Amino acid sequence: MARKPRGRPRVLTVRSARYLSPNMIRVTFAGPELEGFPPNHEGANCKLVLPRDGESREAFEAHFKPDGSEERVHPVRTYTVRAFRAEGLELDIDFVAHGDDGPATRWAQQAKEGSFLGFRGPSQPKITEFYADWYLIAADLSALPVAEATLEAMPRDAKGTAIFEVPSKEDIRELRMPEGIEARWLVQPDVHQPSTAQQDFVRSMDWPEGVVQTCIAGESSVIRALRDHLHNERKVPKKDAYISGYWKIGLVEDEHQQMKREEAA
Ligand SMILES: Cc1cc2nc3c(=O)[nH]c(=O)nc-3n(C[C@H](O)[C@H](O)[C@H](O)COP(=O)(O)OP(=O)(O)OC[C@H]3O[C@@H](n4cnc5c(N)ncnc54)[C@H](O)[C@@H]3O)c2cc1C
Repeated sequence: MARKPRGRPRVLTVRSARYLSPNMIRVTFAGPELEGFPPNHEGANCKLVLPRDGESREAFEAHFKPDGSEERVHPVRTYTVRAFRAEGLELDIDFVAHGDDGPATRWAQQAKEGSFLGFRGPSQPKITEFYADWYLIAADLSALPVAEATLEAMPRDAKGTAIFEVPSKEDIRELRMPEGIEARWLVQPDVHQPSTAQQDFVRSMDWPEGVVQTCIAGESSVIRALRDHLHNERKVPKKDAYISGYWKIGLVEDEHQQMKREEAA
């Protein structure tokens, strides 16, 4: 089957960038390039096309052809629509500040008013129907945006447990969520060491009766262990479980995506 042409990315302009906590940066984009952006897509993923170091906006924009047939020379990374405000044409994306070795993180750490990047998407939001008796949310920093969007979208009388794994206690923030969701924060300072904290917590939980829906994402080996537990031991049907590896220790995103494709084949 022929591939759908990608078209040109929207080239978005930064209005502001600020640290929400020591390891999380919120970048707010604004401007007419966000005209026509679909509403209610918080939690959906998008592809960010990153300019090369020192590249001018003119050179960046000139690179993209209307039919999307240009050679891929810019790093592309997957992120989450955290919030879109149609009235002001503003879009928030939250970036983990995990160091200087990734182009997306490097870009976010340097972002300031007037900085730019390419944006493709968004895809569909991860969970569009909320029908569970209780919810299980588990996220590291990379998945906080999808977790927060899901917690904000679920019914106000929802019940359940939300587990957040962060690298420092200063990364703990007050999040908006239904009163019936119990939040637990786990602090694991070394994000480059595989962690069993979430798995240990989930295994030790009292498992309520009824249908559970999940929104779980984060480091790939953590996700693999949680997925095995949910599907094989707790027998959670796949249709009720959003569970996805968002990054992997030691792999850049393209390598991680390739690994996921091979595992799915
Ligand atoms: C559907 C989806 C949605 C996502 N949404 C978000 C989001 O909203 N915000 C967000 O911050 N991330 C999000 N991610 C994760 C993000 O795509 C990866 O973290 C990506 O690797 C970051 O690119 P980079 O250029 O910074 O690092 P890369 O060049 O890909 O990797 C460089 C090095 O950094 C390491 N690394 C990558 N991510 C992390 C991390 N989080 N913590 C510690 N080390 C890391 C890699 O293992 C590698 O060694 C999402 C991923 C998916 C699949």
